[in-house]
This record gives sequence, C-alpha cells and structure tokens, in this order.
Amino acid sequence: MEFFQFHPTGLAGLGILLTEGARGEGAILRNASGERFMERYAPTIKDLAPRDIIARCMVKEVAEGRGAGPNKDYLYLDCTHLGAEVLETKLPDITEFARTYLGVDPVTEPVPVMPTAHYAMGGIPTNVNAEVLRNNTTVVPGLYAAGECACVSVHGSNRLGTNSLLDINVFGKRAGNNAVAYVKTAEFTPLPDDPAGTVRDLLEGIRSSTGTERIAVLRRELQETMDAKAQVFRTDESLSEVTEVIHSLRNRYKNIGVQDKGRRFNTDLLEAVELGFLLDLAEVVVYSARNRKESRGGHMRDDYPLRDDVNYLVHTMAYLTGDPLSADAADHIALDWKPVTITRYQPMERKY
Ligand SMILES: Cc1cc2nc3c(=O)[nH]c(=O)nc-3n(C[C@H](O)[C@H](O)[C@H](O)COP(=O)(O)OP(=O)(O)OC[C@H]3O[C@@H](n4cnc5c(N)ncnc54)[C@H](O)[C@@H]3O)c2cc1C
Repeated sequence: MEFFQFHPTGLAGLGILLTEGARGEGAILRNASGERFMERYAPTIKDLAPRDIIARCMVKEVAEGRGAGPNKDYLYLDCTHLGAEVLETKLPDITEFARTYLGVDPVTEPVPVMPTAHYAMGGIPTNVNAEVLRNNTTVVPGLYAAGECACVSVHGSNRLGTNSLLDINVFGKRAGNNAVAYVKTAEFTPLPDDPAGTVRDLLEGIRSSTGTERIAVLRRELQETMDAKAQVFRTDESLSEVTEVIHSLRNRYKNIGVQDKGRRFNTDLLEAVELGFLLDLAEVVVYSARNRKESRGGHMRDDYPLRDDVNYLVHTMAYLTGDPLSADAADHIALDWKPVTITRYQPMERKY
C-alpha cells in the first residue's frame, strides 16, 4: 500500500489531472523563470521521463525556491507553442479543465501544475485468477477482486501508463469467469442471522449521531497532512507526524455528525462513511511506508534514498489485528512480507 503513483501534472491546488498526452504532443514543464528544468534532470528524455522521476524533480524545483505563483508552490505546463488547433482538437479535456477550474487559457498562458496522487499500486491481494488471498497463499473461496482495488502484483512499485486499463480488462474478465464457474459448483454456506446488520448499524450510527465534528473539516486535515508529509518524498519524521494526525482524526471521527438525516441520496452520509475508510487506508499507506526503509518506484524515502533489493525486494502485506483506535499503529496493524516472483526480467537499476 506504500506504493502510490503521483502523476506530475495535476492542476495546482486542485489535483485534477492533465493528461500525459499533453507532453506527448510537445508541452513543456517550466519553472518560475521559464526554464525547461527537466533538461537538467533527464537530458535525453526530458519531459517524457517516467511519472515518478518527473514528480520528484518538480517537488525538488519547488523546494529549492524555483516554484511559481504568489507562494512559489507550483510549476508551469507550457502548451502555448502547440497552437489553438492542436489544443482544441487533440487535447480538449485539459484545455477545458484549465479554463474552467483555474481560469487559465492554455492557448495563450502556461498552466499551473503540481504532482497529484493518481493510482494505488497496492490493494486487495489476489492471485492471477483474481481470487482474493487471505494471507500470502490461502484463497478465500468465492471472493474475487480486480482493478484498482486489487493487487495482482503486475504493476510492481510503479505502474506504467495504460496498464491499468489492461489490468481491469484481463483480470476483470478472469474474475467474472471464475466467479461464474465457482457458483456452478459451490454449496450455499450458512449465513449469520442478520448478515446486513453490521452495515446497517454503521449507517444508522452515523445518521443518528449528534456529534459535532464536520466531515469536510476532518477530510481536509487528512488531505493536507497526507499531501505535505506522505507524498512524493517521505521520511521517518514526516511519516511519524502523519501517524499522530491520523490517530487524532480517528478519535475525532467518533464524534462526527451529519446534517442531512435523510435515507435517500444522502451524500453527506456517504462522505462520512468514505472518510472512515480513508482513515483506514491512509494509516496502512503510512505504516507500510514507514516500514519500507528504502526507495523504490513510487515510494521515495529521503532518509533512505537507495533501493535495497537485499532486504526489500518484497511485497508488504498488512493485516488489521486490533482496535484501530489504539495509539500505536503497531498494536493494530500486523505487517508481513511476500517474496517477489522474478520471471524473465531480472531487477536492475533504472538508468537514462
Ligand atoms: C484522470 C485519470 C486518468 C487516467 N488515465 C488512465 C489511462 O489513460 N490509462 C490507464 O491505463 N489508466 C488510467 N487511469 C487509471 C484508471 O482509469 C483506473 O485505475 C481504472 O479506471 C480503475 O478502474 P476500476 O474499475 O478498478 O475502478 P473504478 O473505475 O474506480 O470503479 C470502481 C466503481 O466502484 C464503485 N463503488 C465504490 N464503492 C462502492 C460501494 N461501496 N458499493 C458499490 N459501488 C461502489 C464506484 O462508484 C466506481 O464506479 C486514469 C485515472 C484517472 C483518475
């Protein structure tokens, strides 16, 4: 779960994605002084370097004071030389997004951008048949997962662009086919007396709560903390600070209240439920990241900048083992490691 992909070109301050297709067409990343900074970091492939490399270079540019804007906290995606026709016909989405959300016209002005959290490489562990694994090897009968929620481990620590859509087609089909085959032979298993009880209690508990904490406030705090301290660059210190914030947010989450008490299209309630899950996920991401004392793919530890295949050529497996409200994550998350299966391609250092 520590492997999150950060896409270089999210609209600054919003994170809405501007496709890589823009740089494919020739758009250029520039810093505040207009310099094409990727020439310094990756002289050969420049703005077409992999996402993780560009994201790191961008954060470095800003950290070293070359960011643009009043707070010097973003960079520019310059499409102005591509011309109105290319932008309107080949890149209509990004053109519209920049105009609508930032009031910037890419035809005449560079667009403010910064890396944005884009894709979770981790997820529910499955084998290549899309069967969910209880631990490293045991199949949970009749349970399948595919797509971004799952982790078949085909993307390693750094998914390549396009491969998510391949993943959902290949493993979605397998999950469907295997589920059909399973139900044809499986016996009914006894259900508990009130199988929906847990979910009903969760929803009703939030809906009827008179708590005073507001969802949007807690979510913003989680968002800003993750963004500042568990993002492109991480250290033990930054991750331990996030851990404390998550613990405090979990306690405050016990006291949430929703204003909409309705039972239909209640987005207030939906967001409250989702926030609970976001807190779980954030903690697993941060705890797994803290325990991977190396850098690899989308996970960059400033305090352990090198890849360490001797100790960390493994998948992190995380299990909820205790009360999530206990202050020390080690008291409720157990980590285990699964070896990486190496087939045709031996792991090697990336060089450009
Ligand atoms: C802006 C953007 C551009 C991208 N571009 C590319 C690209 O060019 N190529 C590529 O390969 N990948 C791309 N990706 C990644 C790729 O699109 C996603 O990884 C992929 O769409 C995930 O598909 P999915 O079916 O697994 O999940 P999703 O598409 O997220 O579908 C999950 C569905 O489950 C529903 N759901 C959630 N919770 C519940 C619940 N409790 N009950 C019922 N339903 C629920 C959601 O509403 C949603 O419809 C891009 C992603 C983004 C955000």
